[in-house]
Amino acid sequence: MKISVNPFNGKKIYEFKELNSNNLQSRVKLADETFNSWRKTTFEERSRLMNNAAKELKNNKERYGAIITNEMGKPLSQAIVEIEKCAWVCEYYAANAAEQLKEEPIETDADLSYVRYEPIGVVLAVMPWNYPFWQVFRFAAPNLMAGNVGVLKHASNVMMSAQMIQEVFENAGFPKGCFQNLIIGSEKIEVLLENELIRAVTLTGSKPAGSSVASTAGQHIKKSVLELGGNNALVVFEDADIEKTLEVCVKARFQNTGQSCIAGKRLLLQQSIAKEFVQKYKDKVEALTCGNPLDKDTYIGVMAREDLAEELEKQVSDSVKMGARVLLGGKREGCFFEPTILTKVDEAMPVFKEETFGPVIGITTFENEVDAVNLVNNSEFGLGVSIFTVDRKRVNRLIPQFYEGAVFVNELVKSDPRLPFGGVKTSGYGRELSSHGIRELVNKKTVYIT
Ligand code: NDP
Repeated sequence: MKISVNPFNGKKIYEFKELNSNNLQSRVKLADETFNSWRKTTFEERSRLMNNAAKELKNNKERYGAIITNEMGKPLSQAIVEIEKCAWVCEYYAANAAEQLKEEPIETDADLSYVRYEPIGVVLAVMPWNYPFWQVFRFAAPNLMAGNVGVLKHASNVMMSAQMIQEVFENAGFPKGCFQNLIIGSEKIEVLLENELIRAVTLTGSKPAGSSVASTAGQHIKKSVLELGGNNALVVFEDADIEKTLEVCVKARFQNTGQSCIAGKRLLLQQSIAKEFVQKYKDKVEALTCGNPLDKDTYIGVMAREDLAEELEKQVSDSVKMGARVLLGGKREGCFFEPTILTKVDEAMPVFKEETFGPVIGITTFENEVDAVNLVNNSEFGLGVSIFTVDRKRVNRLIPQFYEGAVFVNELVKSDPRLPFGGVKTSGYGRELSSHGIRELVNKKTVYIT
């Protein structure tokens, strides 16, 4: 059984029977049969259906948003924004896939040589609960447009969201096997990857999950894309526009109740402005409205599961034992975690070294640019960094020095359908979104004619 529990009130809200092995294999077979016809459809036809999916999302954004909120505790207003973003990625690929995948001539000594981008077949997506719709659409929109078909193994606590995503594609008119939600636990992933009809896997989630899935995929010579955790730094230099930077740094850490891989988790402040910045930052975080995620004014809801909140509590208390100071918050009740600011954080503490997946920020100060770069790069992760400064020469100097998948200047790290998204180091490999994402799981076929 897969059970969804509303983390705000602890009530069981949905229950799903898991697929047995026979049903699972027939779903994969259906996916492959569908692929054989889907791959022959034109980009016009795929675009029409993908635009329908966007309409379906926009027309039902409150309904889908409420399902997200009830399953994982994100404030409703932010859940609705998530649905709108899913519509955007559908529209983006509906408009751009044909151009992104058109044949690419390459001059050689042949009469004609070029690269064709061809679909590879059934792709398995293993997805997390933190953006239950967005993470899936980020995979599904480019892959369906490329001619692949998708099977989803979603996180066990958001199975209703997963079912609704399948419904979106069905209501949009996609053939039944183009996108299927598989109601299974993660122990079934191995047998799925053994099935020769599954050609590749993409996973968003934790390092242990990524490592396990990629190992199995590797054994079967199947490509994997991994989008794992992050421990992004927000680096504020003394010349930054302080008021704007404060706004961005609050949002970067506290939106989605802090449960985002690209959230700014380490706030690094230049010593000369630290005192003033910390005080103003505290005032802003203290003013965030916490409460029932269904209330329209709520900004901080509850965390998705109590075990995750407990883990965060331990990271905070261990850091405090090592000398960090609680400037704000620090307490937990069930799945609710107070917005928390820790100061005097050093590089040895869990809140600096580990990914904190909730509304907690650790503040560390630095003297100069060299120190700042060293602090940023002192992480096993490499998803992205935000730097705040008005000095363009400094920006150009620093960008190449970060070992990160993305550098955002005077802005929070965010995903955008037009830009590639992904990390280095243990944040994973491969890219999603943009032309890079749609070309990740296709056969780049070389053609050479004399
Ligand atoms: P997981 O990585 O465990 O879950 C993500 C997905 O992977 C789920 O579908 C899950 O299925 C599946 N999964 C879990 N373990 C395995 C495994 N061994 N083999 C194959 N699939 C697996 O995340 P958690 O929910 O446990 O969150 C733990 C931490 O992971 C967070 O605190 C955060 O640090 C990180 N995380 C990062 C995310 C990101 O966006 N990069 C998103 C979510 C979490 P099931 O639910 O059935 O276990």
